[in-house]
Amino acid sequence: MKEWYDVTIIGGGPAGLYSAFYSGLRGMKTKIIEYQQNLGGKVLLYPEKMIWDVGGQLPVLGEKFAKQIVQQGLTFDPTVCRNTKVESVEKDANNNFILTTNDGKKHYSRAVILANGGGIIQPKRLDVTDAQRYEGKNLHYSMKSLKSLQNKTVLISGGGDAAIDCAVELLEIAKKVIVVYRKNECRAHEAQVNKLVKGNAKFMMNTTIDSFIGTKDGTAIQQVLLKNNASGIRSNHEVDHVIVQHGYNRESSFTVDPNITLEKKDDYFYKGDSFGCTTENGIFAAGDILTYDGKINLLVGAFQDAVQAVNSVKNYLEPTAPKVGMVSSHHKAFEERNKEIIHSQLNA
Ligand SMILES: Cc1cc2nc3c(=O)[nH]c(=O)nc-3n(C[C@H](O)[C@H](O)[C@H](O)COP(=O)(O)OP(=O)(O)OC[C@H]3O[C@@H](n4cnc5c(N)ncnc54)[C@H](O)[C@@H]3O)c2cc1C
Repeated sequence: MKEWYDVTIIGGGPAGLYSAFYSGLRGMKTKIIEYQQNLGGKVLLYPEKMIWDVGGQLPVLGEKFAKQIVQQGLTFDPTVCRNTKVESVEKDANNNFILTTNDGKKHYSRAVILANGGGIIQPKRLDVTDAQRYEGKNLHYSMKSLKSLQNKTVLISGGGDAAIDCAVELLEIAKKVIVVYRKNECRAHEAQVNKLVKGNAKFMMNTTIDSFIGTKDGTAIQQVLLKNNASGIRSNHEVDHVIVQHGYNRESSFTVDPNITLEKKDDYFYKGDSFGCTTENGIFAAGDILTYDGKINLLVGAFQDAVQAVNSVKNYLEPTAPKVGMVSSHHKAFEERNKEIIHSQLNA
């Protein structure tokens, strides 16, 4: 049997998660479809970065912030499909939407919120034998917890801002920092590169990772064999961790049927307005995917977009509903939850 949802949200990043929260607050039956195993979107790319610029939120590590937005996004128990990519969106004769995902399943929805952040972003993987085997062990594509890198020898591959920032952050934490880059000069901000030079990081330009030598039990990288592409000289280096920061590949998200007129800004982003409306009735958008004059491409902008998109969905589905949701402090949806919180505080 077809199970219909009021709204299906493509993407479980900050915009999608906050849309799910707000959609629950507005009493709509909601589904999130997320390509990755973990919800959290791009914030998962910077787990060890401190986030300062979200109103009312004191400085918080990306990893913790991601956990918070996931918890908030699931407040009203939306249906969540993880590891699932939306491949196409079709409109039926009743102007409802059918989404097809990469597992061949169909998802039925009266409205859609695009919160897909500009496509699927994947770190550029290292094209070296056994790289896949060590991934998630001691080969990483984003910065790991600083604690796990304390007093360790860390080799960082890459010469852009992300790689160099990562190396700078490790200067006073790791035992040794080695930076290898395929070109003869780093592309990163000069001031950051200077910090590395002063901080005694080992720089190896014109150098790439040639191969890995694993530990005896084969569970981790023990040595990295490097090749200097200018001189041809190879060298072996004992390491505890390897962090690869070679940038990201962006994959365009999904196709739409010819009856859907979604106007794009370029290959990835959609044109719309500050009410979260796109150029197609019934399809709304929030977060990085949506462009309009005055757009703020930050977390706070994604949250604002989410509220606007959800209010627009509500009015699209129920034209007589209030234009905006009731403030949370007076909202009936929280009565029972507030009692629980107050009780647990009294009993603490
Ligand atoms: C390194 C870095 C540091 C940043 N630092 C800050 C900061 O300090 N402060 C700040 O305010 N902002 C910061 N930002 C920006 C902020 O992270 C983004 O604005 C925010 O993540 C946008 O949220 P979003 O939900 O729109 O998109 P995303 O976070 O990109 O989430 C989109 C989600 O949609 C999923 N998806 C895409 N296509 C599909 C599909 N077809 N099917 C299913 N799922 C799909 C993706 O997998 C992803 O999980 C930073 C960004 C980066 C890259």
